[in-house]
Amino acid sequence: MVGGCVRDLLLGKAPKDFDISTNARPEQVHRLFTNSRIIGRRFKIVHVVYGQEIIEVTTFRSGSSEAVQSRDGMIVRDNSYGTSIEEDSERRDFTINAIYYDIDNFSLLDFHGGLYDLTHGIIDIIGEPDTRYQEDPVRMIRAIRFKAKLGFKLARRTEEPIGRLAPLLLNISNARMFDEVNKLFLTGHGLQSYRELKHYNILDLLFPGQEEFIGSEKYDSFIEYALTSSDQRTLQQKRNKPHFLYTVFMWPKIQKLIYALKCSYQSTPNPPDNYGIVSEACAQALQTQHSVTAIPMAIGTDIKNLIYLAYQITDDSLQASEIEKLAHAGLFRAAFDMIKLRAQFEPEIIPYVKFWQHYYDEAQERFNQAKQEAEARRQNRLDKRKSRRGKGKRGRSMREEEYPLSQADKSALLTAAQESFDKDNSAQRQERLARARAWRAAMNLDP
Ligand code: ATP
Ligand code: MG
Repeated sequence: MVGGCVRDLLLGKAPKDFDISTNARPEQVHRLFTNSRIIGRRFKIVHVVYGQEIIEVTTFRSGSSEAVQSRDGMIVRDNSYGTSIEEDSERRDFTINAIYYDIDNFSLLDFHGGLYDLTHGIIDIIGEPDTRYQEDPVRMIRAIRFKAKLGFKLARRTEEPIGRLAPLLLNISNARMFDEVNKLFLTGHGLQSYRELKHYNILDLLFPGQEEFIGSEKYDSFIEYALTSSDQRTLQQKRNKPHFLYTVFMWPKIQKLIYALKCSYQSTPNPPDNYGIVSEACAQALQTQHSVTAIPMAIGTDIKNLIYLAYQITDDSLQASEIEKLAHAGLFRAAFDMIKLRAQFEPEIIPYVKFWQHYYDEAQERFNQAKQEAEARRQNRLDKRKSRRGKGKRGRSMREEEYPLSQADKSALLTAAQESFDKDNSAQRQERLARARAWRAAMNLDP
């Protein structure tokens, strides 16, 4: 095991996912697990799927000799495999992400002083920072994400190039940037990520065309408030969805576009209706955003519909007959959340919040009931499948329900990792820590 799971277990946190590193080739791993698929073009990896849980399996990487690089030094493809863990560790991003937990003998392998950095709250890149960021600029965002998530500091040498090299992020594919932005904002530390990105002047890069708002106090408070509530949702184990995030970030821009379009159509003979204007404003804003973070079609449609619904429920010309219909719309709860958020900063919205609150409570109740029913149906299906399997032949292919990663398995892993960490508090570890400490002091690396 390597990466975030080892790091988070050692910090006493529940890992988000498990990453496995192995000398088996992707095709070999895939052959072993019928519940797996090979993914990735830049790096081939194998996803082994257990229901909602995905175990990411990567084959040891070798030195970068066979990697294909672009003119800027960015690695565009690299499927050159290595033979040793040590070699693999050099290709990982930060020292704290390169601690391996060897399940053969329950020991920790730490080739870059990651344990030292972990105990001192330091994020330090492996190797020469400029080269590593040029190879993959996403590492800059990852550094900031881990700083936000763990509350660590960036080592001086890891922090220094970010201001200079951040524009390289524009060379990253928009699909990958979409994933990265989701990880920054939707996983429980969105507020802190926002503050850090602002600190490193990266927000303008991530949300183009919003520069005029990003500096303003009102926009800032609006976003901070929205992110605080989505972080709270994560704590309550509720899911945060990308369409809401982008709607919040793009809201002031879209509002301005709507206003401009309305003005420009004022003197035309057949102006579009409100839906047409909202659609046009959203299309313009989404096109700009898409140049940095791909917005999948379905999410783009949700953003447009959400904005239109939020617009309708604050429209005084709304007919009484339309109220029930809007309250039953799929995105109604999100639209209500949106206007509730706005009401914090625009007092004229408060009466609409009061009006729709009752419809929101009803919609929430319908949602909870539908969720319970769906869960009962799922459980029923699982029970039926289990009883059928009990009667069937043995030795069939591995299926997800037969090998669930139970809570007990996870706790056992956690206990074993922590025991190993404590045991490692031996002379050997002390010696390694002292070496890492001396090295850091000599290189003047501490933040
Ligand atoms: P989390 O899953 O909590 O977000 P993580 O560190 O596990 O954090 P993953 O994206 O799951 O992040 O990556 C797993 C591991 O793969 C990392 O810990 C790191 O060792 C390595 N890794 C991921 N992305 C990169 C990268 N861009 N450059 C180098 N190594 C990387
Ligand atoms: Mg991970």
